[in-house]
Amino acid sequence: PVRTRFAPSPTGSLHLGSLRTALYNYLLARNTGGQFILRIEDTDQKRLVKGAEENIYSSLKWLGLQFDEGPNGINGPYGPYKQSERSSIYQKYINELLDNGKAYRCFCSKERLTGLKESAQKLKPPTTASYDRKCTNLTKSQIEENLKNKVPYTVRLLSPDLYPAFEDLLHGKLNIQPQYNSIDRRFDDPVLMKSDNLPTYHFANVVDDHLMKISHVIRGEEWLPSTPKHIAIYEAFGWKPPKYIHIPLLTTLNDKKLSKRKGSASILQLKEDGVLPEALINFSVLFGWCPPRELTSTNHECFTLREFENIFDLRYLTKGNAKVDEKKLWFFNKHYLTKRLESDNGLTELALQVLPLFKEKFGSSVTIERLTKVLDISKGNLTTIFESISKLDYFFEKPLYEKYQELAIDNTEMKTILDYIYTNLEESNIMMLINTLHSESMIPKKNIFKTVRFALSGPKSGAKIHDIITILGKIESKLRIQDLAK
Ligand code: GLU
Repeated sequence: PVRTRFAPSPTGSLHLGSLRTALYNYLLARNTGGQFILRIEDTDQKRLVKGAEENIYSSLKWLGLQFDEGPNGINGPYGPYKQSERSSIYQKYINELLDNGKAYRCFCSKERLTGLKESAQKLKPPTTASYDRKCTNLTKSQIEENLKNKVPYTVRLLSPDLYPAFEDLLHGKLNIQPQYNSIDRRFDDPVLMKSDNLPTYHFANVVDDHLMKISHVIRGEEWLPSTPKHIAIYEAFGWKPPKYIHIPLLTTLNDKKLSKRKGSASILQLKEDGVLPEALINFSVLFGWCPPRELTSTNHECFTLREFENIFDLRYLTKGNAKVDEKKLWFFNKHYLTKRLESDNGLTELALQVLPLFKEKFGSSVTIERLTKVLDISKGNLTTIFESISKLDYFFEKPLYEKYQELAIDNTEMKTILDYIYTNLEESNIMMLINTLHSESMIPKKNIFKTVRFALSGPKSGAKIHDIITILGKIESKLRIQDLAK
């Protein structure tokens, strides 16, 4: 059975890159009838950020990405699902490796290790494999003595001379080795357990993926250098590793790596900005995953989460770095906002959401009925719901006429138009008036439209003239026409 997991570290708000990772894991599980697990990787105490864990839960909830097993009241057969609550488990497994000689205690001081690291950096070529394995030479009694004296220690993996090659489902067979230096042999013995008795990312990640029976690990390419270490840990235990899929990095349009530390695009920030979850999901899945032609031709590029669940397939992952084009996000947002505004429930919900903001800006007399009507006739013109406040202000207050010269319509012509509409609007329909005026006076229709629209809504475009008059009412419409004529 397929079991996937999303394993974020609560070191900041959930952002676009991790959302995409979560989505692929979620979709693979849903598509195959498997399980999607959430695991909080919070063993690196120094990097924890207050509120980040909550932020992960709220982001996933808002997006509707329900996990089958995980923390925060969900649980499951392989819990706990927060690494900070699994210390005794890691202890047990570290002992197993110590007992069978696949790992060893390293009592070297920080200063010594820093010295080794610095000298390794100076080698030509420099090497990240910097440890000289001094502590593998300790005798049993020396170790006992150190333990008795409470000398702090870490536990290191006795790494293989060559890391095993492995298969990545996206990239094929990979053979990644640390850069060794042949003259001064150093070793890349990754620390599994830190001196505070907490596991490192590598160790906890492997033990948990194994115990939680994870079948597929989909994660960002930045983890690729860690994978050989992970596989070496699996081998040390005699366990079978999961299948790995390392997905390309997200880049901005000019090929810069998107970094979460720069605070780019946190999910909840996007929510605050008026991004809809359907839009964000559609947008995120399509970086690095491209559905086959026959599916896009009927659906264009718009897919709901349910649709993605039905069609998701690892075969359609793409290898190149995925470029984030913000314009695309707004395209999807407009599409889904229009869809919501087209449904009665969606329309009411959105109107209620922005009602307080309209009241704040245009006074408490703004009613839900009027706002609903205004939003209804504006669907298709809004990119976010918050845009309505600035874009549709003319329904709630008189527009400004200062820039009427920009219409570039002759003053007397303008006056003729306004007088005619003012006098006849009460008894007639605006479209008929425009037609009649045009045929009687030969004033170009374009100019009549522009003038009337300007009188009603100022320099803003959008809704149809007829709709605007329906909502403003003929009295208010006439007042505006009269105002511009002055
Ligand atoms: N905790 C890691 C992260 O924050 C998980 C990486 C992995 O999926 O193995 O991304």
